Amino acid sequence: MTIKIHPIKAFNDNYIWTLHDDHYAVVVDPGDPHVVLEYLSQHQLSLLGILITHHHYDHVDGLVALQEQWDCPVYAPNDERIPGRLTTVKQGDVIRFDALSLCFNVLFTPGHTLTHICYHDDDNLFCGDTLFSLGCGRMFEGTAAQFYNALSLLKNLPDAIHVYCTHEYTESNWQFANHVRPNDSQLQAFKKSLDAKRSQQLPSLPSTLATEKALNPFLHCDQADLQKILAQKFNQTIESPEQSFGLLRHWKDHF
Ligand SMILES: [Zn+2]
Repeated sequence: MTIKIHPIKAFNDNYIWTLHDDHYAVVVDPGDPHVVLEYLSQHQLSLLGILITHHHYDHVDGLVALQEQWDCPVYAPNDERIPGRLTTVKQGDVIRFDALSLCFNVLFTPGHTLTHICYHDDDNLFCGDTLFSLGCGRMFEGTAAQFYNALSLLKNLPDAIHVYCTHEYTESNWQFANHVRPNDSQLQAFKKSLDAKRSQQLPSLPSTLATEKALNPFLHCDQADLQKILAQKFNQTIESPEQSFGLLRHWKDHF
């Protein structure tokens, strides 16, 4: 039985990624319990467990209601801002859902928040608000060095891995990426396929790490051409990829 990975839409632009077969499901970052309960009921699925990447309300607000109904484990970073009965996990931990033959590794990826974690297996990465297609999360709590290191960890995963981000931000991220590097032929080609998906209301996600490594400027902070663009834009000498990351994030925040 192959596992389906379905985006349950929530709020304006969130996806609650749901991995399931014909019987069991695991959900990632259920910010809204109602849409999840509806999907589980429609497909007659039992909830095996919940993965949480970070404490923001649009990622955790559904977990208590879901846990009450299903009495399932909730895996989350150690952060008292997250409600519910948690099984806290840290980098290097392995999480198994035997009924779905799933096994995830945990990566510690602070930057968007100080306790953000990501989950991956050989095929799929659930990266919360750390990595977006063509972008990354806002730096609410961490430092540029922390965020740069977190993205470097993700960059080390296999190119073919599918990247499941929590938000549909690809269009606005494309606008910024295209502003930073106008006339990039790979970015132009990406826009055509993006427009084709979005005009049919299809998610732009998942992406792949190969696509992100090719096109996402936030994964290029160690590249000389981007550092040159940043040096000109901010009229300063670039001495490290961490500094590049901080400047690029600042630029995007004011774009
Ligand atoms: Zn967030």
